[in-house]
Amino acid sequence: METKKKILVLGCNFAGLTISRYLHKELGHAAEITIIDRKNYINFIPNIPIEVFNNHNPANTMEFQFQKFLKSDGSEFIQAEIEHIDADEKKVLFTPNERSGSSQEFINYDYLVIAVGCKLAFDKIEGFGEFGHTFSDTFYGNEVRKYLYNDYKGGHIAIGCDRFIQGQSPKSPKIPTALAACEGPPVELAFSLADWLEKHKKGNAKNITLFTPAEVIAEDAGKTILDQLLPMVSGMGYGYKNNTVGIKRIYKDGIDFKDGTSLEAEMKIIFPNWEPHSFLKGLPFVDDQGFVITDLYMRNPDYPEIFAVGDAAAVTVPKLGSLGHMECEIASKVLANEILGISETIDPLHPMVVCFGDMGNYKGFYMHTDEWWGGDISILKMGYTPYLLKMGFKTMYQTLGGKVPSWGMPLSELIGDHTII
Ligand SMILES: Cc1cc2nc3c(=O)[nH]c(=O)nc-3n(C[C@H](O)[C@H](O)[C@H](O)COP(=O)(O)OP(=O)(O)OC[C@H]3O[C@@H](n4cnc5c(N)ncnc54)[C@H](O)[C@@H]3O)c2cc1C
Repeated sequence: METKKKILVLGCNFAGLTISRYLHKELGHAAEITIIDRKNYINFIPNIPIEVFNNHNPANTMEFQFQKFLKSDGSEFIQAEIEHIDADEKKVLFTPNERSGSSQEFINYDYLVIAVGCKLAFDKIEGFGEFGHTFSDTFYGNEVRKYLYNDYKGGHIAIGCDRFIQGQSPKSPKIPTALAACEGPPVELAFSLADWLEKHKKGNAKNITLFTPAEVIAEDAGKTILDQLLPMVSGMGYGYKNNTVGIKRIYKDGIDFKDGTSLEAEMKIIFPNWEPHSFLKGLPFVDDQGFVITDLYMRNPDYPEIFAVGDAAAVTVPKLGSLGHMECEIASKVLANEILGISETIDPLHPMVVCFGDMGNYKGFYMHTDEWWGGDISILKMGYTPYLLKMGFKTMYQTLGGKVPSWGMPLSELIGDHTII
């Protein structure tokens, strides 16, 4: 009797849960799927700011359990700290973490899907712990909520990114180099925070300065969109500071940048460098930073049984959940073709930004562009529909446990691209 192929998925947030569910959809019970994550719930990061501005602790609504979905698929979940990948022996070393004191275990695989995201390197920014704020998880989101509702004095607010160090490897597909990991969130926050300030009679867009290490903020939005967005942002009264090179330190009353300049601010809302996890660095299938090298079918060229999806993959630039989502669709189909011996046609990854951002007051923006990668799509819209689509995606993701139907993304694009909003 032929033994079933063992697929091991590392990480179970957006990319890990999505690909686990898609693999089951494609393969049924033709493979054994095991997933490892250190926590047994999803952090629904993109909607944390909306909860914060509505004075809800995001931990109450933005974390949801996924185990029932994996169980119903017949997939196995292990709650553990992943510590090492031995690519030559095809095994992963991990330590179960439900209780302290567990000993290290290992698990073998036929196929490995790496979906462990990145380390968000706040610890590399001097002064962040004492003086910084951010929205990248429910703890930090709740800290912002408490500050805004209890302590905010109406002072200046700086929002922006530290310098991102993108990995390099001659084996990676050619993609443009970004100086910030993901600047959709700072732009989105600038809009929704200005709305919050107005509603609470604490100020407006003039309280906020957006900054970027790059020549232009959100460069992956492409020139056509930026030519609309940037004049609008300055027309609304936001401050704007570019070419900061990176953050040197944060102190009580402001930020010192690596270009030698400073910005005074009561609140410093920061997005750091997205850094690969230390256990990935130096492995034989990663680039010079530790991002997993793949082709545009999400497969490593030297270890063809290794795939990567989401933020951990070198080609995922910017570090955007919607890119990870497309990668999960591709990788699950590639694996299904191989394991089932079929030859369904699969298109390679066509990188693009598809993004729904909150602007406050039930309005949002919709961005769909591949111009930064040399394409000709450039769509920016603002109104009520993008906000509804952003909220609708969260509901669909939670209700279906990450198994967004194959028409989900194209339908959102269709509505976003063609609806008058
Ligand atoms: C404030 C904010 C707003 C955003 N808004 C949007 C948006 O509107 N649209 C969008 O498309 N994207 C958005 N993004 C980006 C999006 O959140 C990320 O691209 C997405 O979370 C990446 O998913 P991932 O599964 O690859 O990684 P992650 O979400 O980081 O998940 C990685 C998983 O791996 C696990 N893991 C890591 N290391 C280990 C280990 N050693 N052992 C065990 N488990 C481990 C973690 O516990 C985690 O569950 C936003 C990001 C931020 C910070």
